Amino acid sequence: MKIEKYSFKSESKQLLNLMIHSLYSNKEIFIRELISNASDAIEKSRFMLLSKEKILNNNIKYEIKIYLDEKNNKITIRDNGIGMTKKEVIKNLGTIAKSGTKNFIKSIKNNKKNNFIGKFGVGFYSAFIVSKEVHVNTLSIHNNKTKNSIIWKSSGDGKYSIEKSKKKNVGTDVILFLKNSENYLTNYYTIKNIIKKYSDHIDIPIKIKKYNKNNKTHEWKQINSSEALWTLEKKNISKEKYINFYKYITNDNFDPIIWSHNKVEGNIEYTMLLYIPSKAPWDIWNREKKGGLKLYINKVYIMDDVEQFLPNYLRFVKGIIDSKNLPLNVSREILQTNKNIETIKKIITKKILILIQKIDKKKYITFWKEFGSIIKEGIAEDIENKQIISNLLLFSSINTNSTKKYLSLNEYVKNMKKFQKNIYFITSDNYKSAKNNPHLEIFKKKEIDVLILHERIDEWMMNYLTEFKGIKFQSVNKFDETFDKTINKNIEKNKKKIERIKHIATKIEKILKNKIKKVNITYRFSETPVALTTDSNEMSTQMAKLFSAAGQKIPKIKYIFEINPNHKIIKMISKISNEKNFKQWTKMLFEQAILNEKGSLTEPNKFIKRVNNLLTKNIS
Ligand code: ADP
Ligand code: MG
Repeated sequence: MKIEKYSFKSESKQLLNLMIHSLYSNKEIFIRELISNASDAIEKSRFMLLSKEKILNNNIKYEIKIYLDEKNNKITIRDNGIGMTKKEVIKNLGTIAKSGTKNFIKSIKNNKKNNFIGKFGVGFYSAFIVSKEVHVNTLSIHNNKTKNSIIWKSSGDGKYSIEKSKKKNVGTDVILFLKNSENYLTNYYTIKNIIKKYSDHIDIPIKIKKYNKNNKTHEWKQINSSEALWTLEKKNISKEKYINFYKYITNDNFDPIIWSHNKVEGNIEYTMLLYIPSKAPWDIWNREKKGGLKLYINKVYIMDDVEQFLPNYLRFVKGIIDSKNLPLNVSREILQTNKNIETIKKIITKKILILIQKIDKKKYITFWKEFGSIIKEGIAEDIENKQIISNLLLFSSINTNSTKKYLSLNEYVKNMKKFQKNIYFITSDNYKSAKNNPHLEIFKKKEIDVLILHERIDEWMMNYLTEFKGIKFQSVNKFDETFDKTINKNIEKNKKKIERIKHIATKIEKILKNKIKKVNITYRFSETPVALTTDSNEMSTQMAKLFSAAGQKIPKIKYIFEINPNHKIIKMISKISNEKNFKQWTKMLFEQAILNEKGSLTEPNKFIKRVNNLLTKNIS
């Protein structure tokens, strides 16, 4: 085979440049990336032999060896992992950012801290931050007999070449020809410190060849402590080690908020190490992307992103689970049907919910901002833990001036008025319009707090969240007779008033007969003449909006038309004798109410015409 030449995709060139420049201040991470790849390759080899030959401890002595060549300004990182075939080299190293995307370029541009590196499969290319040329000499485990090894070469300038090589042992050498400015990286202590910092917990020995001045020989020194962190006693693991391990398994640059490390003994034995990140990944809403835990069986890595251990609403949780009881030939399919998994999942779920409750108050706000709307899914998804989840929820309310107030249900309940029977809430697609909604007038007047729910998921969640500690939730947009009774101390007096105005209500009902369910006379409003509510069994406006945004057909909502007999306009129209005129006023008021409820009208021009007509006409 002669030398074959290839070029990266044009997008890749751009990406490579961006990455090299934006990561320069953090350049030492290339070691972490290359060691992580070497360790992945070794884990793959271990797992392959395990599933093929059903041997847990094969005889291969896995290790990662680092050769420092000060004279030639060169570093080699050698692993005896799975290696790559030619096809794999082209596929894995020929496409930068396999998940391929503008998204990545965007995020790397916007994010100076670059906590994205690695997540997109650009880890390997960090080698070019410090190297003028990189060679990858590799022999795949599948080619062990033919010794068909190959070498990949690139200067990171958009092109690479592939040719035959003479590698005898399965595995991969990554050879870095350092830029002149980076020659200090060939120093034993420099590299040792970087490895200690980033890769200490990797459970494969990482060795560096060290020159011994005394007897003038070279010797291999193991750098990392090489223990699977989760198998150690909790008391022997420092905070820093936990954090470093988190960063290693997630490629996150931010510290986790909190973690929990537990060994479960009994019928099913397993260890779990669970972390709550402090930032949501940019693609947390991508439903196709699986989140999940890393699965190990008896310290042997099995697979990533095993989502079967987590309910969907906790998909942001990271960590590992190591079990002794799962079959060695475990696959995703087996996981789906294995009974033990369900049990483990239940315990993990509880553990995480308890862990979240332990987050201190200040950090909890950060947590809520990042993951609150995902936690809300749990109210519908996890009936068993609904009570605990509802304790986690935070809301804004009308007693606050911004969306930034975070009120828990416990706090709300504590501040409830003596005569107040329900937890009141309003749903809307934005905070401002919810806050100015006429339904809230009476609550503001009586100083009753109302939760403001303005996220997309809220309306859906409230279908499942019907009570908290025995107190029912009540939407202020829904017709609520009990409330009218609670606040109306002068019911008798009002009754007479209502009698007097009833004929108007009947007249209005006739005019709007096809559009509304009924007219209700209410004393809830002060500044608003009319408003709409829905019956408790009717779909709410907000829900209807969500459905139609999702392209679903929805039945027409039949509203209750609430009129405020104390309002000037209602008093005024009750004196109108001209039928036609009265009809115009009624329709205009109805349209006003719709506008308030929905934020828009189907035929705004008709409404404007009507208003203008009425404005220019004398009442007779
Ligand atoms: P990631 O590790 O996130 O997949 P990288 O850019 O770090 O992305 O590596 C790209 C791919 O190249 C890896 O997924 C792996 O398939 C392959 N690879 C890199 N280094 C090695 C290695 N030392 N041995 C075998 N395969 C490797
Ligand atoms: Mg990698």
